[in-house]
Amino acid sequence: MHLLSCDSIFSPRGLCDDTQVIGAGRGTADPPFGVKAPPNARWNAIRRRSQVLPVDCAAMENLIDGKAVAAIVRAEVGERVRALQARTGVQCGLATVMVGDDPASAVYVGNKHRACHEAGMASFDIHLPADVDQEGLHRKIDEVCADPLIHGMIVQLPLPKHLDEDAALDRISYLKDADGLTPAAQGRLATLRPGPRPATPNGVVELLRRYDVEMGGAHAVIVGRSEIVGKPQAHLLLEQNCTVTICHSRTRDLPSVTRQADILVAAIGRPEMLTAEHVRDGAVVIDVGINRLEKGLVGDVDFASVAPKARLITPVPGGVGPMTIAMLLRNCIDAAELAAG
Ligand code: NAP
Repeated sequence: MHLLSCDSIFSPRGLCDDTQVIGAGRGTADPPFGVKAPPNARWNAIRRRSQVLPVDCAAMENLIDGKAVAAIVRAEVGERVRALQARTGVQCGLATVMVGDDPASAVYVGNKHRACHEAGMASFDIHLPADVDQEGLHRKIDEVCADPLIHGMIVQLPLPKHLDEDAALDRISYLKDADGLTPAAQGRLATLRPGPRPATPNGVVELLRRYDVEMGGAHAVIVGRSEIVGKPQAHLLLEQNCTVTICHSRTRDLPSVTRQADILVAAIGRPEMLTAEHVRDGAVVIDVGINRLEKGLVGDVDFASVAPKARLITPVPGGVGPMTIAMLLRNCIDAAELAAG
C-alpha cells in the first residue's frame, strides 16, 4: 500500500480575508500584546506546502503504521524548517512550559525537544517551580507569546492542582498554539476557519488521508467526547465531509451504533473495550486509547478480535500515538511560515 501525502487540510471555507488585530480579552486569543492575525488565505497557502513523500507499506496488510506516517510528516516539517531558514534566516522555534517535576511529563517534554532537534527547529525548555502561582504562570505564557523567536508553544498538562488549566490555555495566543487546544483554536475548528488543529485528532485524520481512506460521505463513529480527542475529532471529520456520530458513556446499545461505522474511532480510556461485536466487516478502526496494563500498553480496542474484521486498523503502540508530536511540529512550522510572511 502506498501512503499519500496531503495538501491543505484547511477547509475551503477559509478563503475569505478575516485579518484582525488580536487584543487582550480572556477566552478568545487573549495575548496581552497586539498581534496581527494573518488572513485565512495565507493559512491555506502555507498548508499547501506539505510535500509528497510516498512510502511503500505493502508488507503491512491491514495495519496502519503510525510510526512510518509520523516519520514522513516529521521529514516534511524538517524540509520546511530548512526552506524557511534559507529563505528568511528565521529558525522555527517551539517552547514548552512545564510546571514542577512530574516524571511522566518530563519524558513527554523531552520527546518533544528531541523531535524539534531532529527537525532542525529551535526548542525552548521552560521550567517553572511547582509552587508557581497562576499569575506567575500567566506572566511566563505572555512572555513566550510575545517572543519573536518562538512560533509555537505548549503548556505541558497536567498542571499541579492549585493551578487552573483552562485559564492557562485561555492565555495562549491561538497563533502560537502548537497543541491546537486553546478555546480560540477549537472555536476556529468548530466554525471551519483555518488555524492550528488539535494534534492527536488531527493525527487521526492525517493517518486516514495517507492511507487514502475515503472520508467524504463515510459514516464516522467516534466513541468518546472529551475536549482533547472526541469533540475535536468530530469537527475534524466533519471538515472532511464524514457523516459523524459521537458516542459516550450514556449511549444506548453502543454495539448497534458502532457497527454502522465505516470509520470507527475509539477514544475512551478503557482497555480493549471495543470487541468484534462492535465492528462491522471492512470497517477502518482507529484506536486512540493508551492504557498501561501489566502485559504492556493496550488500546481501547481488543486488537485480537477486531483486526481480522477490519479493512485497516491502528495498533497500540505504534498507531495514533506517534502522530501527536508530528502534528504538533507541523502546527509550529505553519505558525512560523505565517509569521515570516
Ligand atoms: P476522557 O477525557 O476520559 O474521555 C473518555 C470518553 O469516553 C468520555 O467522553 C466518556 O464518556 C467515554 N466513555 C467512557 N466509558 C464509556 C463507555 N463505557 N461507553 C462509551 N463511552 C465511554 O479520555 P480522553 O482524554 O479523550 O482519552 C481517551 C483515550 O485516548 C485515553 O486512553 C488516552 O490515554 C488516549 N489519548 C491518547 C493520545 C495520544 O495518542 N497521543 C492523546 C490523548 C489521549 P462521558 O463523556 O459520558 O463520560
